[in-house]
Amino acid sequence: MELLVIGIDAVSPNLVFENLDDYPNIRDLVSDGVSGEYNGYVYGYGSHDNWISMYTGVSPHTHKVIKGRYSVTEEYPMPKHYEKFSPLWKILNENGYKVGFWKGLATTPPVEIDGYMVSGEPLLEKVNELPDYASILPVVCSKDKFIKDDFFGDLTNFPSPKTPERFGETWGSIEENPEKLEELLIDGYFKEGLEYHKKTLEQAYINIERVYKKKEVDVFWFYNSVFDYVGHFQTHDKDGTLMRECIKHVDIFIGKMKNLMKPKNIIFLSDHGQKAIVDFFPNCSIDTRKRAFGLSDNCIFSKNHIVMKGRNPGLLTGLHSLKATAIFKGENIKKNESLAEMRTLDIYPTILDILGIEIPKEKEGYILPIVKNGNEKNISYKFPNEIKKRIVLLLQTCEVSVFNSFINEYSIKNRFNEIHVMILPEYKEVFKINKQVKKVLLLGEEINKNNYDEILIAYNDNQNKEKKILPIKMKDE
Ligand SMILES: [Zn+2]
Repeated sequence: MELLVIGIDAVSPNLVFENLDDYPNIRDLVSDGVSGEYNGYVYGYGSHDNWISMYTGVSPHTHKVIKGRYSVTEEYPMPKHYEKFSPLWKILNENGYKVGFWKGLATTPPVEIDGYMVSGEPLLEKVNELPDYASILPVVCSKDKFIKDDFFGDLTNFPSPKTPERFGETWGSIEENPEKLEELLIDGYFKEGLEYHKKTLEQAYINIERVYKKKEVDVFWFYNSVFDYVGHFQTHDKDGTLMRECIKHVDIFIGKMKNLMKPKNIIFLSDHGQKAIVDFFPNCSIDTRKRAFGLSDNCIFSKNHIVMKGRNPGLLTGLHSLKATAIFKGENIKKNESLAEMRTLDIYPTILDILGIEIPKEKEGYILPIVKNGNEKNISYKFPNEIKKRIVLLLQTCEVSVFNSFINEYSIKNRFNEIHVMILPEYKEVFKINKQVKKVLLLGEEINKNNYDEILIAYNDNQNKEKKILPIKMKDE
C-alpha cells in the first residue's frame, strides 16, 4: 500500500525524540526518514481545529472550526462543515486511491468513500444526548456495516482520574491547603489512563487487521485521542514516566501496523504537544503565576503545581503546548532534511505531493522540502527556498494572557516573521519560553529601531471587544 498515517493526539516531540531507545519502531522511522517538531494551533484552538486543517490544508479561520465547534452554527464539527475544501479522502478517491479512515476527529457522521470510514467521537459527556456522534464504538455508513458487525472488544468503560473526594478531600479543602497537592499528585496518579490507552491500541489493531484483510486500501489514516486525555492529568510528572510508557504502546502499535500493511510511505503525527500548566510560568512566584495565567480563577496554585478545575472532576495539570511531532519516512521521502519551518498547513499539500497528486487551488501551506518525486504541476506550492525574515517588535500593552494571544495570532498569520517582544520585567521568564518569540526585551530598555522592519503595539479594546495590532512611528522617521 502507498501511505500509512498514524495520528496520536498531543504527543510532545521531546517525549519522543529524547527517548528514542525506548521506541524501536519509531527510532527506525526517525533514522531512515525526516523528523522534528512543528507549530500546531494552540492557545484558543482545539484538537478538532488542528486535525481538520490537516485534512483540508486550510487554517481554522478558513474552515471555521475553532475550539472544537463549527463557529457558524456552534455545532460539533462534522465533515459537511468542511467538505468544500476537498478533504483528503475525497481528493484521494478522485485520484484512484482507496482510503481507510479510522476514528479521525471530526469525521462523524461518516462519509461514504471508496474504502471505508470508521467514525465516532470519544465525547463522553454527550453519549446520551448525541449517540450517533459521541460513540467510542465504531460509527459507519451502511455500506461499511461489516466493520461494525464483528467488531472486537469493549472500550466503553472509560476511566476517570481520581477526584479530590477519592483522597478524602474536596476542591475547597485543597484550596485551603494547596501543598496537599504534593501528596496527591504522585507519578502514577492516572495510571488507569495508561492501561486504557494500551487496551485501546491493542483492540484497534485487532479490528484493523481483520478489516484490512477483508478490504485492502491504498492509504490508511489512523487516529487516537486517549494519549491527549491521559496527558491532561499526568503532565505534572516532570520525568514523564507514565506518558513515556504510553508512547511505548504507540510504538508497538506502529510496529504491528507496518508489518500488516507494508506501506511504501509512513507518517507519524501529533497535532500539538502538552505541558504542565506550571511549566508555562517557570521560575516565577505564585503571585506572578496567578497574574500571568488567564485561567487562574479556576486554579489551585501550590509551590510546584498548578491544578485546574476542568469539566472532569479530576486534578487537571496539563495543557496543550505549541510544538507537535512529525516523522516522515518512505520511498518518496528524502532523508535528513529539516522540518524547521513546518506548520500544520503543510501536511495536506505534502501528502498529496508524496502521492503525485495535483494540489487544489487556495490551500494555505507549502510542500515540505522532503518529497523526492512530486507532481510538476504543484510548483506554486513549492517551499520557499530563501526566506527573508521580517523582524518585528511587539510591545506589551495588556495583561500577559491577552498579549500571548496577540503573539499567537500574529505568529499564525505571519509565519515567516521573527517576533521580538518588549514586556514588563516581572514576566521575563514567561516570555522566554514562548517558542513563538525569538527575543525578549524588557520595558525601559532602549530600542534600536534600525533592527526592526516594524514596531507594533497590541491594542485590546475591551469596550468594543476588538483586538488590533497597530504600527508605531518612531520620532525621526
Ligand atoms: Zn489535540
